[in-house]
Amino acid sequence: MNYDAVIVGSGPAGSVTARFAAEAGVKVLIIERRTEVGVPVLCGEGVSQKVDNFNVLEGKRWIATKMKGARIISPNGATITLSAEYAGNETGYVVYRDIFDQELARGAVQKGAEIMLNTCAINLLKKNGKIKGITAQHFDETLEIEADVVVGADGVESRVGKWAGIQTTLKPYDLETCVQYTLTNIDWDSPYCDFFLGKHVAPGGYVWVFPKGKDVANVGIGVLASLSEAGKAKQYLDKFIAARPELKKGEPLRVITGADPVAEPIQSVKDNLLLVGDAARQVDPITGGGLMHAIEAGKYAGQTIANAVVKQCFDMQTLSEYEIQWKNAFGKKLHRNYVAKEIILDMEDKTLDMLADSLKDYKFEEFSTLSIIKALVTKHPSLLVKLTPLMKLARA
Ligand SMILES: Cc1cc2nc3c(=O)[nH]c(=O)nc-3n(C[C@H](O)[C@H](O)[C@H](O)COP(=O)(O)OP(=O)(O)OC[C@H]3O[C@@H](n4cnc5c(N)ncnc54)[C@H](O)[C@@H]3O)c2cc1C
Repeated sequence: MNYDAVIVGSGPAGSVTARFAAEAGVKVLIIERRTEVGVPVLCGEGVSQKVDNFNVLEGKRWIATKMKGARIISPNGATITLSAEYAGNETGYVVYRDIFDQELARGAVQKGAEIMLNTCAINLLKKNGKIKGITAQHFDETLEIEADVVVGADGVESRVGKWAGIQTTLKPYDLETCVQYTLTNIDWDSPYCDFFLGKHVAPGGYVWVFPKGKDVANVGIGVLASLSEAGKAKQYLDKFIAARPELKKGEPLRVITGADPVAEPIQSVKDNLLLVGDAARQVDPITGGGLMHAIEAGKYAGQTIANAVVKQCFDMQTLSEYEIQWKNAFGKKLHRNYVAKEIILDMEDKTLDMLADSLKDYKFEEFSTLSIIKALVTKHPSLLVKLTPLMKLARA
C-alpha cells in the first residue's frame, strides 16, 4: 500500500485535509478506527454559519436548525444576546454531526480520496529513522501503509503526535470533562443557542442548550477537569435540568461523555508529519468549539501537502507552510482566548452577574474577545487595568 499521504482519522480535520490534497491530485488514504464515519456523535453540534465560506458541504441535510443567535446567561440570569440582526453569519447552525462528518468525507472521496474503516493506526512506520507511513490494524490484519506524509487528525486522544515525539499530554487544567443528553419531549422552542455560566452551574465551563427542532435539544455540560472529580459533570448537569420544568420532563434520545481540550496549540509539524484539528489542540479555549478550526486548518494542511508533493520535498521546513497559515488565520485568537480563559476562571459569580448585567443591552456585531473587552471597558473603566493585557493581545 503506497500513498502520497495517509490521514489518521475521518473527523472534519481529516476529511477536509484529504479533500484539498486530493483535489490537487495527491494520492490520499484516510484510515478510521470506527466502523462508520461520524458515529458515535460526540459533540454539541453547534457550528458558525461561517462554515458556508469553505464550500466543503453540499445541500442542507446536515443542518438541524439555523439559529437566530446565541445567548450567554450569567448565574443570576442576566443575558447577553448575540443576534443575527447585528451579527450576521457570526451566529450558527445546530447540525446532525453524523451527517455533517459523512458529507465532509463524501466531499473528500468525490475529489479522489480513499477511506478504510475499521482500521486503527497503531504506530508510525519508519524507514532509516524517517517517518514513512503508518502501521495499522484492519480487522485481523496488520498493515504497513507507506506514505510520504502522515497526518494526525486523530482527535483529542491523538497518539500520532506522541509517536512522533511531540508533547501531547493534556493537564487537567486544560481539559473539559463533558456530558450531554439529547433530550426530547421538552418545551424549549428557542431560536438561540444558550450558554449558562457560573461556578455552581459548571465550574470552569458552562452548560449549553442547543435546540435541534421544536421539542429536541442537546443539553450538555463541560467542567474543567482540575476543578472537578469523576462523575461530577453529570451531577451538575442533572441538577441544572432538574431545576427547569421545561427540560425536566424530557427523555433522552442519546447520552454522550467526552473530553474537550481547552489548551494552547502544540507543535503541528515535523518532517513527514502534520497534526490537524483537536490533535493539534486547535480548539477555542473559551468555548471548547473546534469544528471551524479543524475545517480551516484542514484546508491549509491539504494545500500544503499538495505543494510538497509537487516539490517532492516533505521536510519540516516545507510542511511549515501549513503551520504559518493556520497561525496567521487563528493562532493569535487561540492564545488570546487562552489568556481570557484564565481571567474568566478567576471571576466570582457576582462579577459575572455584574458584567453580564451591564452588557445585556449591548448590540454585538461580532462575538470576539476584543468586542467584549471594548464593551466592558466602556461600561466599567475600572476594569481597564485588569483587561489591558488582554486588550493588547486582542489588538496584536
Ligand atoms: C461533548 C463535546 C461537545 C462538543 N461540542 C462542540 C460544538 O458544539 N461545536 C464545536 O465546534 N466543537 C464541539 N466540540 C469539539 C469538536 O467535537 C472537535 O473540535 C472536533 O470534532 C474536532 O475534529 P477533529 O477532526 O480534529 O477530531 P474528531 O472529530 O475527534 O475526529 C478524530 C477521528 O480520528 C479517529 N481516530 C482516533 N484515533 C485513531 C486511530 N488510532 N486510528 C484511526 N482513527 C483514529 C476517531 O475515531 C475520529 O473519527 C465538542 C466536543 C465534545 C467532547
